[in-house]
Amino acid sequence: MENRIQLLEKIWPEKKSFREKQFFEALFSQNLKNFDEITVFPKDIRILMQEKLTWLLWDTNKIFSGERGDTHKAILSSIFDGAKIETVLMKNARGHWTICVSSQVGCAMKCSFCATGSMGFIRNLNEDEIVDQYRFWKKYCDEKKLEGKITNIVFMGMGEPLANYKSVKRSIDMFLSYADIGATRITVSTVGLLPMLEKILTDKTWPNVRLAVSLHSADEKMRNLLMPSSYEGFLKKLSLWAKRYFEVYDQRRRHLTFEYVLLGGVNDTEIYAEKLLHFSRKLGKVRVNLIPYNATDTNFQPSQRIENFREYLRQRGVVATVRKSMGQDIAAACGQLVVNKKKNDDLYGK
Ligand code: SAH
Repeated sequence: MENRIQLLEKIWPEKKSFREKQFFEALFSQNLKNFDEITVFPKDIRILMQEKLTWLLWDTNKIFSGERGDTHKAILSSIFDGAKIETVLMKNARGHWTICVSSQVGCAMKCSFCATGSMGFIRNLNEDEIVDQYRFWKKYCDEKKLEGKITNIVFMGMGEPLANYKSVKRSIDMFLSYADIGATRITVSTVGLLPMLEKILTDKTWPNVRLAVSLHSADEKMRNLLMPSSYEGFLKKLSLWAKRYFEVYDQRRRHLTFEYVLLGGVNDTEIYAEKLLHFSRKLGKVRVNLIPYNATDTNFQPSQRIENFREYLRQRGVVATVRKSMGQDIAAACGQLVVNKKKNDDLYGK
């Protein structure tokens, strides 16, 4: 699928370079609704744009809103091939909005506790399809007159962002240039694809975003069991990588977090807390974000030991926070994102 820049090149090869900036500024502008309204462009070009380009790459399939009105989930289908993804809008602590974007249709990583994993990998999204999730929510906030701005973006929807490195990076660059969202307000969450994590170390143009690595266990066997993308020797390599990340991007130290979903009776006991402690100590001061497990079709149970787990770490000097889980009533929480018609129908009796 050609991206907008390539299409624009075809329509308007003789354009001056500042035109591209104008084009994207218009796309991200609150007030415009189609290409014909970009009046800084000549009329014939606008007509061509209307014919050859698409203003929004997603059709709305369905929108679910949580009872408190602080979480909204949309199922969107691609205007090209009908592929469905999910994206979420949730109120953050400062009363503004965080959006959770998908980077792929489905996911190849097959984490055993994650609903998206069960649908398999279908395709990558391109950068325009990623930024159009933001543009979709911006329009939605506008139309519904929701108070607050979209201030944060997390790549925690469907897919493994680093398995779609180029498009994810380009989409971040667009957010930074046109959406008025700073790099520290963007988080890329990854299963920990080491070759791509390595690439980040040498990629001088990788943006200064927050990185969250899904650890979920500091025990090799347990991690392999939960995350088939893991392998023997992974944790050692990951900690070597993290040390180098801290060296290369010293100022970003606080921007690396390890995520740990707590699964009842599986990885939430003291033995596993101790293993996590050792892993953290090897790296010095790291941040751990504990995630309550959100029910999916798998056999896992939420943990009853979240507080004990956190206290164990805290008393030993590890900065551990617990993620507030939102959107469970509309299956929009982490790991619940799967386009599953039956489930959504059951939930809403439609
Ligand atoms: N592929 C990326 C993004 C996945 S979603 C990654 O692996 O990081 C963001 C986070 O939600 C990940 O840490 C993921 O492991 C976690 N997650 C997946 N399923 C979950 C579930 N059912 N409950 C809670 N967190 C879950």
